[in-house]
Amino acid sequence: MENKKVALVTGGSRGIGKACAVELAKAGCDVIINYAGNEEAANKTVEELKVLGSNSKAMKFDVSNQELVEAAIKEIMDEYKRIDVLVNNAGITRDGLFMRMSAQNWLDVINTNLNSAYFVTNPVSKIMIKQRSGAIVNMASISGIYGNAGQANYSTAKAGLIGFTKALAKELASRNIRVNAVAPGFIQTDMTKDLPQEQIVDKIPLKRLGEPEDIAKTVKFLALDTTYITGQVIGVDGGLVI
Ligand code: NAP
Repeated sequence: MENKKVALVTGGSRGIGKACAVELAKAGCDVIINYAGNEEAANKTVEELKVLGSNSKAMKFDVSNQELVEAAIKEIMDEYKRIDVLVNNAGITRDGLFMRMSAQNWLDVINTNLNSAYFVTNPVSKIMIKQRSGAIVNMASISGIYGNAGQANYSTAKAGLIGFTKALAKELASRNIRVNAVAPGFIQTDMTKDLPQEQIVDKIPLKRLGEPEDIAKTVKFLALDTTYITGQVIGVDGGLVI
């Protein structure tokens, strides 16, 4: 039997990350999901993934803590022996006007949404280089492309992820590793549930918020289906320009 691909999805317990995990499991991957603290959601997602035939497990670690990340990647390698797909998805918001933004809210978002990409991708890319294959998908945002008022911290982190994607794609291409980003618009998850949805929908040409599955299908396409796309940022936003 052909060896199954192994995928790691950070922040894979809920929302967009969960949908990505499900899509990758449906495509035949063994999917490891990471989460920060919501154990109930993580366990429920793992059960769903197992029903899809995936040898899955949930791993609780803070993606902004380098030591914990490195220990987790080592544990994955001990058990699964390889990592074929990495989805850097875990993220948070701490919105507010910049003038009133605390240093803590700035640092929390930069550490969780951007520095985490270094902490996770650095050890994983070394594994992929040894394998001479791999696909990395970074979860950016339209906020990182256009900038969003009230989200200076978040827009900065997401713009950083886009630069990271383009630079890393060039560095890793010769090792048969592709690196791309998806830039979601407004997607229906816990992160957006308190936003004024009617006002937002009004501005979206496709007249609806996105579903996590809309993002997941693009992530799966970039990770598994295409072989010749790298260094790209795909907007999945219903046509919205902010
Ligand atoms: P969500 O529903 O709030 O889920 C966030 C996920 O990230 C959860 O699994 C959470 O774990 C995990 N997480 C948070 N902080 C973490 C940390 N320090 N270490 C490890 N895991 C952590 O968010 P979402 O809406 O699905 O967003 C997923 C990604 O898409 C984020 O990067 C976000 O910026 C991006 N995005 C979202 C939208 C949108 O409209 N929703 C738009 C553009 C981009 P727990 O369950 O344990 O808390």
